[in-house]
Amino acid sequence: MDFRFDHMASTDNILADLKASKTAMELVIGAGKGLEIALPHLRKMPDKILEVNSYRVTYGEISELVAGARKAREFSYAPYSHFNVGASIFAENKSGLFARIGGCNVENASYGETKCAERVAAFKAVSEGFRKFHAFAVVGGFDDSISKDIRRAAQKEYITPCGACRQVTNEFEANPCLVIIARDTGEVLITTLQYLFPCGFGPRSLGMDPARYDRHKIAI
Ligand SMILES: [Zn+2]
Repeated sequence: MDFRFDHMASTDNILADLKASKTAMELVIGAGKGLEIALPHLRKMPDKILEVNSYRVTYGEISELVAGARKAREFSYAPYSHFNVGASIFAENKSGLFARIGGCNVENASYGETKCAERVAAFKAVSEGFRKFHAFAVVGGFDDSISKDIRRAAQKEYITPCGACRQVTNEFEANPCLVIIARDTGEVLITTLQYLFPCGFGPRSLGMDPARYDRHKIAI
């Protein structure tokens, strides 16, 4: 990612960005394209950095989400690409309960039937009643069967959600949704779905609020 300041060079650079912004969301969307930081350093950052409008995502929640994505990746079924991905979604149900729900990529011999980890996690969450997505984490990479050169080249990139997963998660983005993309080396990129999927077509385009939708109360 191309940041105004190199966040990884010094946490002072993050604070410099932060000084110029009123909220963390402004930092994420306005001053930069996200926040790139080594996860252990995040704990030392001021609380303000973890506030997203009125919703506060704690350091603990972010690190738990990354751990959840890594755990989900253990079950990745990727015998064809050898590219293993895990995702974990922090979501809320209509009773106000929160849960972290994981998913992994599931490939298929008929390649087009493959599903990404983010969509598996999203569908699992919705099927359990957790329809309000606050944040999700993604971690991915090749296994050892792929050549070192390719693995090294891929590790330089953050594994961002594909277009289809951005569309699907956008359906349930009732609040500003954080996207946390983790590398195995410990750095995370904290960005937002709004940044990754600007001007996306979503439920509101059709007058719908997915958080309020109740199939038992359909007005005909
Ligand atoms: Zn995807």
